[in-house]
Amino acid sequence: MKEQGFTTHLVHHDHNQNLEFGAIHAPIYNSATYGYENIHDLIDIFQGRQAGQAYARQATPTIDMLQNKICEMEQGKATLCFSSGMAAIVTVFLTLLKSGDHIVASRFLFGNTSSVFGTLRDFGVEVTLVDATDVANVAAACQSNTKMVFVETIANPATQVCDIEGIGELCDSKGLLYVIDNTITSAYLFQPKSVKCHLIVNSLSKYFGGHGNVIGGSVTDTGLFDWTQYPNIFEAYRVGNPAMWGYLQMKKKGLRDMGACLSSETAAQLAIGAETMALRMQQSSRTTLALAEYLAQHPKVAKVYYPGLETHPQYQRANKLFKASSSMLSVDLKGEFDCCEFLNHLQLVIGATHLGDNRSLALPVAPTIFHEIGLEARQKAGISENMVRFSIGIEDTDDLLADFKQALDLL
Ligand SMILES: *Cc1c(COP(=O)(O)O)cnc(C)c1O
Repeated sequence: MKEQGFTTHLVHHDHNQNLEFGAIHAPIYNSATYGYENIHDLIDIFQGRQAGQAYARQATPTIDMLQNKICEMEQGKATLCFSSGMAAIVTVFLTLLKSGDHIVASRFLFGNTSSVFGTLRDFGVEVTLVDATDVANVAAACQSNTKMVFVETIANPATQVCDIEGIGELCDSKGLLYVIDNTITSAYLFQPKSVKCHLIVNSLSKYFGGHGNVIGGSVTDTGLFDWTQYPNIFEAYRVGNPAMWGYLQMKKKGLRDMGACLSSETAAQLAIGAETMALRMQQSSRTTLALAEYLAQHPKVAKVYYPGLETHPQYQRANKLFKASSSMLSVDLKGEFDCCEFLNHLQLVIGATHLGDNRSLALPVAPTIFHEIGLEARQKAGISENMVRFSIGIEDTDDLLADFKQALDLL
């Protein structure tokens, strides 16, 4: 983001757009369609000769404002918003890949993203899952029909950190489209553009909105990919500035045709949530590190997964690339202790799925979000059967430490 700091720029963004009445928040435009006195203006908008609104399935002025904000936060070229993080991810795959293409993805991914790969395979897209903490595994999996590499920054739930820098170099040298899901780190802790990422995916439902009250997703094109060399761009979208071809195709084939659009109301709520992103991330990352250190020395705990701990296999990488290691923390209790009993003893921490809420949340992962994939896939993803995943919120650190202590004492 420009000269100003992250938060300064963010909280003054709307007011700096010369809004009517000196408003400090962008208005919520609730119009589904937009009318023109001269119908030629509408025709020009349809044909891409003029910027403007047509129908809320593709954009509204409120969503445009949020998209611009995300784009600046990610230092990108253009951003599209969707009704959820999954809608954003599916748009990347379904609009930019064709039957016969191949993608290489990290084996350590959000469960629903892995589930999408099953669908892609049925549509004739080959998917190879690798241990992407080592770029050599990604390189070895590349084939002549490989189009895309997909990874997350800090993997959910076992917190592996892929070699996102090395993979950036690899994709750059091979002309592969590099997609990073930045949800767990957020634009505040990490900028994927710095490792040559081409498309940044975010679930805005998590740390971006932050309050656990809205769902949304985004895709940001960093402007680093040469779309003229990408064979899957339809003829209709090979027009105008080539830097915008991928964006245009995702907008038309994704938002327009598949229709998973955000609403203006939700966009406004997300924008307000994001204003405190840096403050929330600082607080929750600090508390998570304190909890991780506490748990790591606790006699009832077998293993703590948190990239901010020096014992984490990718600690050096996380420490170098991220401002902090975010607030997802996973824990294995020693075999004789029941993780569900532990969760039931916690009084502040809410037993719930979801991440990036102001409130701390926890769930046992094997019987819930990673139940469907089965034991073998769980083992390959480094997920133990007794693992508990925490999303640490912004509560006062001492209160959370006390809650963990009393719950462990009761076991
Ligand atoms: C939650 C999540 C998603 C999906 O986002 P939704 O907004 O819930 O659809 C994608 N990737 C990661 C890493 C997530 O944590």
